[in-house]
Amino acid sequence: MRVSLFVSGCRNRCKECFQPQTWAFDYGRPFTEETEEELLSALSPEFISGLTVLGGEPLEPENQKALLPFLAKVKKQLPDKTIWIYTGFTFEELSSPSCRACTPEIKDILSIADVLVDGRFEADKKNLLLKFRGSSNQRLIDLKSTLEKGKVTLWEGSSRGLG
Ligand code: SF4
Repeated sequence: MRVSLFVSGCRNRCKECFQPQTWAFDYGRPFTEETEEELLSALSPEFISGLTVLGGEPLEPENQKALLPFLAKVKKQLPDKTIWIYTGFTFEELSSPSCRACTPEIKDILSIADVLVDGRFEADKKNLLLKFRGSSNQRLIDLKSTLEKGKVTLWEGSSRGLG
């Protein structure tokens, strides 16, 4: 069981996006200190395995700025909880200077998170049998292993099930 944070704002405009209302950066509730406290408290119980961040696009540059300090706080206060991030950017795009999401914050975000589900939703590759992703182009990336080995390593699950 996990806690989910849906981050508003997305410029990816995937065809057949399941929630285009989240493209607007002002959709939903403002992200405040109270929101952070609410999330930290929801994450605390032992039966919660971690935080899943999705959207919208959590890695739009504006969103990264608010997300990094919050993720750092989660990792510091609750080090046993895993952090999953869903993004329309590929892992490779995130380290390419020509990509808008390649910001001063991105390296730190990727080193704090545990799993990155990357790539846009592609309607022609949609497959309802896939676990934890919508289309077969998307990957579940084990970030710790990937950063250690210097090459993309896929997440293979854990003894706690999800994360
Ligand atoms: S990245 Fe997600 S929110 Fe953005 S358009 Fe694609 S499916 Fe929709």
